[in-house]
Amino acid sequence: MGFLDELSRKISEGVDRAKFEAEKFQRTTAIQGEISDLRRQLDVKRLEFGDRALELYRAGAIQSPTLGGILREIEALQVSLTLKEEELRAVQGQVHVEPPPPPRTQNVPLTIEPPAPPPVTRPPQPVAGGKVCPGCGFQMPSTAVFCPNCGLRVGN
Ligand SMILES: [Zn+2]
Repeated sequence: MGFLDELSRKISEGVDRAKFEAEKFQRTTAIQGEISDLRRQLDVKRLEFGDRALELYRAGAIQSPTLGGILREIEALQVSLTLKEEELRAVQGQVHVEPPPPPRTQNVPLTIEPPAPPPVTRPPQPVAGGKVCPGCGFQMPSTAVFCPNCGLRVGN
């Protein structure tokens, strides 16, 4: 058998298999739907039967400790259901309340740092060949007689 024949056979096998799987899935889904429907009908009839049995039990027409036990469980569940429904209504009725804005504590460092040392204030140093006014600290040439800043006499 040639390569192309082999390929063609494999493709047609694949098509058959895909078709088979698709039909199988379709049938499975349909049967599962019918089973679900029958289960729902069965549940409805069981409920009808149960309600009727409880009516008869309450009326005293049936004496059965088993039915009495089931009835007490049903009544307890009905109480739980009522409470849950009230809880739901309470939660649904809650309104969101905006929390107050946080106090403005911006730029507050988490760790307290020691205060910065005060800036070193050096006494004014005279420039080379100059002098400093004893009144205001202005630097001026050593030949100046009066301080050009404050007018103090600084020379002869
Ligand atoms: Zn001066």
